[in-house]
Amino acid sequence: MSLFKSIKEDSMLKRVVITGGVHGNELTGAFLVKKWQKTPLVTKNIKIEYLLGNPKAFKECRRYIDYDLNRSFSKKALSKDSYIYEFERAKVLKERLKSCDFLIDIHTTTANMGMTIVLSKDDPLSNLVAKKLSLEFDDVKILRWFSTSEGDFINSAVPHSITLEAGAICQGVLEPRIFFRCEEIVKRAVEILDSEINQDKFEIGKSVEVYDIVKIVDFPREENEPSAMIHPNILGKDYFQLKNGEPIFVTLEGETILYDGEPLYAVFINEAAYYEKKIAFCLCEKSKI
Ligand SMILES: [Zn+2]
Repeated sequence: MSLFKSIKEDSMLKRVVITGGVHGNELTGAFLVKKWQKTPLVTKNIKIEYLLGNPKAFKECRRYIDYDLNRSFSKKALSKDSYIYEFERAKVLKERLKSCDFLIDIHTTTANMGMTIVLSKDDPLSNLVAKKLSLEFDDVKILRWFSTSEGDFINSAVPHSITLEAGAICQGVLEPRIFFRCEEIVKRAVEILDSEINQDKFEIGKSVEVYDIVKIVDFPREENEPSAMIHPNILGKDYFQLKNGEPIFVTLEGETILYDGEPLYAVFINEAAYYEKKIAFCLCEKSKI
């Protein structure tokens, strides 16, 4: 998979949308959006709109009301009338995103992912912005997650996008270190889109590391509930290389469970919102592009 193709056809950007609070209890993005709604970022060539993704869930400080909004953008969810709040909200957002050239969606995670740019499809412009950010900020990593079985991400509603996933931070709280770092990275992304892509000033520099999610690992379960916890040896060690025979879980009785598989890199380790999704952590292949 190549990270770059020609981005010529993408080079005129007019409208950028920044979303936060697509998950109502991820406050960093929601409050950045609120801040910028009051005091918009200054741009020369592009127009930016700031959207609170899930206002109802934000008000209740919950991830969602009926269904994960960031899995509610598949054709099936968008096509039918439903009693599911997020499906209806996805239709509203899809409409608002109609003439959006580039989306920046801000999320947080309880996993120790640092500043991760998640790419949800392989398009040259999104790749380029992610690469530039990764080269300029030494704590920014690039993670590619192209599909989930649960439904499509909000990114599927636009031609180009990046998702900023920042952690570790608890759900329902704000922290200045993460808040201002996210602000800095998003501001720089906007600058790249506004001044460098639009004015053809971008330069493709050195190669960067990219992580591709290739495997999902669930907790051992009994009657659908986790019967083990993430092993302390790997807790908080997102992006480390997990090798065959290393401990991954410890049961409620204290028994250690070992990893049986090829060496891969673990991310989203112990993400709180993924317990219900049957994800204890995800495993990635790493490549340099
Ligand atoms: Zn989120």
